[in-house]
Parts: sequence; C-alpha cells; structure tokens
Amino acid sequence: MKKLSYLFFSCILVLGVSCKENANSNTNEVVTSKLINKSDIERIEPPNWWIGFENDSLQLLVKHKNIGNYTPSISYRGVSIEKVSKGNNSNNYLFIDLVISESASPGTFNISFKNDNGDELIDVYQLKERVKPAEDYIGFNSSDAIYLITPDRFANANPDNDTPIAMEGQEGLLEKTVDRNDNYARHGGDIEGIINHLEYINDLGFTAVWPQPMLINDMKEGSYHGYAITDLYKIDPRFGTLGEYQKLSQKAKEKGMKLIMDQVANHCGLEHWWMKDLPFKDWVSLQENYEKNIDNWDWKSTINSNHRRTTNQDIYASQYDKDGNSQGWFVATMPDLNQRNPFMAKYIIQNSIWWIETAQLDGIRQDTYPYPDKAFMSNWAGAIMTEYPNFSIVGEEWSYNPLLIGYWQEGANNRDGYDSNLRSPMDFAMQQKVVEAFNEEESWDKGLVKIYEGLANDFHYAKPKDIMVFEGNHDMSRIFTQLKGDVVNTKMAVATYAMMPRILQMYYGTEILMDDFDKPGDHGLIRTDYPGGWEGDTVNAFTGQGLTEDQKNMQSFVKTLLNYRKHSKAIHDGKTVHFAPFMGTYFLFRSLGEETVVMIINKNEKPITIDLKRYAEIGLDGKTLTNIITGDSFTWKDDIDLNEKGVLILTTKAN
Ligand code: CA
Repeated sequence: MKKLSYLFFSCILVLGVSCKENANSNTNEVVTSKLINKSDIERIEPPNWWIGFENDSLQLLVKHKNIGNYTPSISYRGVSIEKVSKGNNSNNYLFIDLVISESASPGTFNISFKNDNGDELIDVYQLKERVKPAEDYIGFNSSDAIYLITPDRFANANPDNDTPIAMEGQEGLLEKTVDRNDNYARHGGDIEGIINHLEYINDLGFTAVWPQPMLINDMKEGSYHGYAITDLYKIDPRFGTLGEYQKLSQKAKEKGMKLIMDQVANHCGLEHWWMKDLPFKDWVSLQENYEKNIDNWDWKSTINSNHRRTTNQDIYASQYDKDGNSQGWFVATMPDLNQRNPFMAKYIIQNSIWWIETAQLDGIRQDTYPYPDKAFMSNWAGAIMTEYPNFSIVGEEWSYNPLLIGYWQEGANNRDGYDSNLRSPMDFAMQQKVVEAFNEEESWDKGLVKIYEGLANDFHYAKPKDIMVFEGNHDMSRIFTQLKGDVVNTKMAVATYAMMPRILQMYYGTEILMDDFDKPGDHGLIRTDYPGGWEGDTVNAFTGQGLTEDQKNMQSFVKTLLNYRKHSKAIHDGKTVHFAPFMGTYFLFRSLGEETVVMIINKNEKPITIDLKRYAEIGLDGKTLTNIITGDSFTWKDDIDLNEKGVLILTTKAN
C-alpha cells in the first residue's frame, strides 16, 4: 500500500459470536454444569477455535468492564488454563492462555469468570472440528493467474447493503454517504457482486481472486479501499456477511478457483474498537504520543513512518531510522500495531489462522510487508506455514530493487541470517522494467533490454517462479495509462508478464483497457467502477455491450492468453531461455517435455524478416507451431516474417 492510497478514517460494534447459536447442540461436553446460551462478556477473541492444530496453545483476548477483577475457570476435558494475564493499561482486559490437548473433542463449554464479591460471568466458547486436513489447503503458485479486485468498485449485486444506517442499529456506521460520483466515497460494490461474476472471471482464464480487504472499515471517510480495519473479526456489512464471504470461497472452489484474503498486520484503522481503551501501554507504537494528543488527534500530531524500508536490510542503518520505519504510523488514521508486544503478536497470528479455517482460504496477501517488526513477520508466516504446509502467502514490498525483493523470499541466503518463511514476494521491479521496455525507443541500453536484463536478475532469487509479477494494482496508474494508451504495447506487456517464470496477477479492468488518463495516478480514479457492475450501466463489460472494438479485442486477447496459460505446464514450470534483443525483437522460450512455447515480441512498425538460426539451440527446426491467439500454424525453418508490431505466442502443443 502506498502512503497516498489511504485517506482518513474511523469505530465499531457489537459481537455476534456465531458459536452461541450452536451452544445447545453440543454433544461432547463433559463436565460443565450450567451451559448458558448467551454471553455475559462483551468480547472474546478469537470468537471460536478448532481442535487438532500443530500448536496446541490458544490465547483468548477477553474484553469486559473490570474483567481484570475476575478469575476465569474452565472445566472441559482436554482444555486447561495455563496462564492469565492482565493488561497494564486497562482493567477491562484479560488474556487467557489455554492448552488444547489431543484429548479435547469438538464442542462448547463455559468459561466462568468470578470476582471476590462472588459475582459470576459466563461465556460459552466453542471448539470446532476442522473441515479438512491441513495439507489440503493448497495455495497459489506459478500455475495461477490472480484477478485483483477492489470490491467496492467491481459489482453491486445488493443495493440494500449500500447504506449502513439501517443495518447497524440506531447509530449506523460512521461514513454515511454512498456516492458513485465521488471517487473517494463508497460506491456499493459487494461480495455478492463478485460471486455473480465468478464465471466471467473464470472464463477469462483466471484461477484465483484476490479482493482487497473486506473486513469492516468503520471510518469517517475514505473507507472504501479496506485497509483501515476497525474489527479484525468482522466482514464489512457494506460488502456483505460472513456467510456471503464463505459462499464466495465455496463458489470459487466449485469452479476450481482459489480465494486469497488481503490481510494487514502493520496497522489498523484509527476507529478500531480498541483505540478507545488500549489494553497495554505499548499495544500500538508510539502510544504515549497518541494518548497525549488523543483529544485533538490529526496528521500534525502523528509521528509517521519515515517509509525508509531499506532499513530492514541496510547494514549501515541507524537505529533511529530503523525505528522510524517500523514504529512510525503509516498515516494519522492508521495506528501502527506493535507486534513486539507478545499479546499483539499472538492476536495477529491467531486472527490469520481463524480466517484460513473460517473462510477455507487458499492464500493470503499481506499488506505493507516491510513495515511491521520483521522478526514478527517471520514468526507470523512461519506459524501459518507450520499449520498449513502447502499454503501460500504473498507479501507486498514496494521496491524496484531485486536485492530487496530477494531478501524477503524464503530460502534467501541473507548475510544477517534472516529467514522470512515467505514463499512469495511481489515483483515491482519487473512490473517497471516491462513498462520501460515498451515506452522506450530501442537502443543498446534501452527498450527490450530492460526485460532481458530484468529477468537476468533471477539468478539472485531463491525461487523465481514463486515470485508474483503483475501488470498493475490498486496503487499505481493503470497499465494502459502507463503505456500511454498504446493498445499493442499493452498487449505485449501483458503477454510478457504472463509468459515469465512467475505467479501472474492482474488488476480488474486491464482486460478492457481501463485507464486513469483524466488524473494519472489518482487512487480513486484507478479504482474506477467496473462497467456493467451497476444496474443501469450503459456499458457492460460482462456481456460486451457498449465496449469499443479495442476493448473487445483486448478482452478476447487476455481470455485466449490466460486460458492457454492455465493448461501450459511449460509456462507454469518449464525451463526458460531467452535471447538478447535483436533488431527490435525479443524471443523468450519456455519448455517442458514436448511442449515449447515461444514468445516473440516485435517492436518494428515495418515488416522485417528474422533469421531463425540464432535460436537453433532450442531444437525447433522443422517443427510445426500454432499461434495461440489466431490458431494459424507456422513451420519453424530458416526465418520468420514479422509483418507488424506486436506479440506472437507460438506453441508446439497441438490444439
Ligand atoms: Ca451493495
């Protein structure tokens, strides 16, 4: 997340713990005397847990007025209280460390809280059975093409949830307006809208969806993007319900697609419920500064991050700069979570695991990876990968420097010994190189050589094909805008990303050449409404109605390319060989077994003929190849005529 993508914000609500509905259905409870189908406690998190994890410990956050005066007890076979801790900043919290042993069965039990006056409060807690074995959570990999969606801006299937007032009781949510004419207001897109168009996404050849965060952002304004979370256990009602989120996951699976959850360990929204009653003196970074200025809190009172992310690797970095990066707040409306507090650290790790189980996730995208405490991030990713060995996590490091990208990948040979446990960093460097390659005139050190030398950097990476490359995202100008509105260049760029030994990610709307020419780089504009997502839209990209010829052509190109990629083992896992740019062309080969896929980029406006002898080592001589876009066949012999600027993708695989 880039700094500018966040603007202001704000609080929250009641707990509707679903486990209580099931309290009476318990059959495994052993000794609890009086099971009550209600909770006396304001909030217990995680709201439920499961049996059968590698890690048998669980730490409950209990929030209730003066709960610090109470002593908890549990009587349930296999569950024991190891330790009870109070917050040092508020008497309204208890942290209960539980051990859930192998003898524990799924079921519900009472947690009883008693004080010296003989008062008793009771909460019903549930341990569920896990839905499937841990190793069956299969993450994304280089066979996947991921569709990134800004949920507020994709499709509004349910106008009834647009206005939060009716839904959250008398006060409603803090941001009252829904206004499609304001790029920084809510527009009404929702989970149901994504579900309704999963078939469209699937048909385009994508195999996974990554929606920006859908947890509640009950902020005063600018909450549409999702990165200012105010309750880490609640879906934003403007996007839908927990049930709808689970349905999205289920419907995606039915189509063979994966769901990736966007999570934020670095910060929360200023209106997060705990900001008004912080449990510890160091729950958030620079808390003293915040509490001193709380009544007049604004950007002037904030100590922001210095955004000097290289301090994570810089062997000369001062402690001052290191702290400035990791402890400063991202922006005034996004308090920096202090993962050095062990209770906060556990809270974040358990929250991630809770969502993986609850929503049957196939992957996590972690925001702002170089901003949290980096030792914590390694522990966080490690804890998840220990529970789910085949899972995938991609971390956002906005750096154009392959040294830094490589540092964050699991298996990197880092001189400081840092092991991130992170399978997939993001390839901002390659995103930029490809754009340069097509915007620049060809010369010795400009143009296509940027791709050639960009890929040459792969020698540095522990596992290049586990890195996620992308043509664009919600924080940068649309690729069509970056490439100055050149359709052919946009096609060539998209093909280049898709053919690399990488996981591929694209941003919704690239397939119809969405742009931000009116105000390049403006975040609200980049995240434009998808045409056809709203009733009454005159253009409908889902049906093709009202699209220009260029748009239809691009949509069809992406669809053909990605559907080929979906089944191409050579692109997923094949050997990569490329040749230095030559006469304004660039040849990239991906091969596995009998399948060789050739990408030929040609920047020449006028027809040229390329002698194929220089590519002899690939062994294609005499073979018949098929153009995956047009279906035309071509016999690989002496030379190839390239009659127009553009990309050719040829395969030895028969159609
Ligand atoms: Ca809606």
